[in-house]
Amino acid sequence: MREHQLTVPVPEAWGEGIVRIEKDRPVELDVRLESVHEGILVSGTAETEYEGECSRCLREISQGVEVEFQELFAYPGDETSDFELQDDHVDLETLVRDAIVLSLPFQPVCQPDCPGLDPTTGVRLAESSGEVQDPIDPRWAALQKLTETAPASDAGLSREEN
Ligand SMILES: [Zn+2]
Repeated sequence: MREHQLTVPVPEAWGEGIVRIEKDRPVELDVRLESVHEGILVSGTAETEYEGECSRCLREISQGVEVEFQELFAYPGDETSDFELQDDHVDLETLVRDAIVLSLPFQPVCQPDCPGLDPTTGVRLAESSGEVQDPIDPRWAALQKLTETAPASDAGLSREEN
């Protein structure tokens, strides 16, 4: 049994969704190779970072991703298997790429409760200081003017009482 820790740059961009692993982004691999009867059993973890856009507010995001993998690399022989030893080597690229790409979120978000964009103004709701102002229905706009002037008229009343 052998254990290896490697850091390998991604040879080409992985993933075609709204987030991806960019080319040359390092992938940290923790790999364990075990000799078994049929070949070499490879297991380990891969850790890297994906980047892209929040699916709700389109903000740039990047986030860590860690996956586990395990696969038997069979000795070349009569039986065809998905993974085979080649000249005493295991080629982990397909295995690691598939594990990482499958773990990428379909609808990535910058934060779990990202409120997205205001459907009317297109402004990022998370950035409008928490106070979401409802657009005023024009039919009620005149009433709002009344409430704005109300304190002034109260003062006027109290003066009259005095
Ligand atoms: Zn967002």
